[in-house]
Amino acid sequence: MTFQDYTYTRPDFDTLKPKFEAMLNDFTQAKDAATQIEAFKAINATRTHIQSMQTLSSIRHSIDTTDAFYEGENNYWDEQGPLYEELNVRLYHAVLNSPFINELKAVFPKPFFQLAENALKGFKPEIIPLLQEENKLSSQYAKLIASAQIPFDGKTLTLAQLGPHFISEDRSVREAAQKAKSDWMSANESAIDDIYDQLVHLRDKIAKTLGFKNFVELGYVRMNRLDYNADMVANFRKQVRDGIVPVAQKLIKRQAKRLGLDHLYYYDLPYEFKSGNPKPVGTPDDIIAAGREMYHELSPETGEFIDFMTDRNLLDLVAKKGKQSGGYCTYISDYASPFIFSNFNGTQGDVEVLTHEAGHAFQVFQSRWIDIPEVQWPTLESCEIHSMSMEFLTWPWMDRFFKEQTPKFKFSHLASSMTFIPYGVLIDHFQHEVYANPEMTPTQRKAKFRELEQVYLPHKDYKDNDFLNRGGFWFQQGHVFHAPFYYIDYTLAQLCALQFFKRTQDNDPNVWSDYLALCKLGGTKSFLGLVEAANLKSPFSDGTVASITSTIESVLDAIPDSELN
Ligand code: ZN
Repeated sequence: MTFQDYTYTRPDFDTLKPKFEAMLNDFTQAKDAATQIEAFKAINATRTHIQSMQTLSSIRHSIDTTDAFYEGENNYWDEQGPLYEELNVRLYHAVLNSPFINELKAVFPKPFFQLAENALKGFKPEIIPLLQEENKLSSQYAKLIASAQIPFDGKTLTLAQLGPHFISEDRSVREAAQKAKSDWMSANESAIDDIYDQLVHLRDKIAKTLGFKNFVELGYVRMNRLDYNADMVANFRKQVRDGIVPVAQKLIKRQAKRLGLDHLYYYDLPYEFKSGNPKPVGTPDDIIAAGREMYHELSPETGEFIDFMTDRNLLDLVAKKGKQSGGYCTYISDYASPFIFSNFNGTQGDVEVLTHEAGHAFQVFQSRWIDIPEVQWPTLESCEIHSMSMEFLTWPWMDRFFKEQTPKFKFSHLASSMTFIPYGVLIDHFQHEVYANPEMTPTQRKAKFRELEQVYLPHKDYKDNDFLNRGGFWFQQGHVFHAPFYYIDYTLAQLCALQFFKRTQDNDPNVWSDYLALCKLGGTKSFLGLVEAANLKSPFSDGTVASITSTIESVLDAIPDSELN
């Protein structure tokens, strides 16, 4: 059986709702804990099926946004999804008010109960129309970005297809490609501003309807920060400013010197090496074959995993017209199948799909034993630990993809982890400002972004690019639109992944077993609980950031520039 054979049927809400209510009744009327536990399991089986259908629809829509059937199904889930969510909320009420709550807590993982509490704080039936509107606006943004047809070099390209030109060896091509992209953003400026302005006001209204001071508070509840708060995050941003921004600035200077340029403009930043950025060698099929070989050699567990993924066509990797941008990994419970989506474009990012997204997929594959939808994955910052760590755990095989450019790839990967963290923190800081001050105008928002950009990325010089000088860079950052406050999660996870990296450098024999154990835990523990279980240090603790940067700097310093040409 392959992905193409997986059956999609739209659930009929009108028959499903009474069935669900009957099951919920069995749960609340249970005379003892054992009966209630069985009723809970039956409800979870039904919920798992609904979620599988929604996921299948969403995958197939993202593969071909011009497919009318799945566009219709996508609209259905946009509109009806919140009604299904309301059924979950009724389950959460029933669970949290159960007389057998202690018995339930003894059997089911603690995060399930914390997530249920957050869901109740973040939902009331009267916000359903507002949530539907929020979904619609997010979809509008995604569709607009996917529809981009950018004239460049005599061709018409999508944003993903423009990617390779950003790392052209020819400086004028790099500038022209970036200009083409920002010209498209600028031409759509009022449409994108309008979508975001509506989203900000809508989210503020949702937060206030639920009794929060503003959307920042609701954002933390929605993001399910189970064991840390905005103060801890602000302190983390400060540590990044003090500890990582200076390292990143040194790397920018080293890049300029290596390229023989006096000064780096924004269009030079992705171009790290005179001979061009490392590119994987071979066709997409070669890359996929090398990935399969790599996972067979890494461990028996990853070997079994990659066979499952390829035998069942659970990878859709190549860029096509009409396909949504970006990449993701998801999970279809009914078929116990992870799914990986990407847009190969001939850059090192193609290999990173096979390490990063495969890290996500490997975790959920190891967590197939978990039958409660809420805890098959951990909360999002923890999810990125698996993916970003897999990028480092697969370092010994990178020569299969990059051949003689392997040192360049490794340097680029590690250096970009240092330059990425300040960017990630900037995106987070920006959103705190936006949602704490929802009355800012689109112009003021862009100005605020540019102001913060100068704090975290002081090297950014947009030359004569008016749109970017006015603070428009974040228009391309989808998370800002569809997943508010998500971005900090990547930086928290990166600090965990870099600890695994440091341990591989120190030849720690327990790296793989700790990583595997982490994947098997899925979402049965909270972020700091998982960090502890994997024998890692909390990114919030003083000294963690410093210990990582010193190791990375010494690895980077040990690679001479002569190896990087
Ligand atoms: Zn990821």
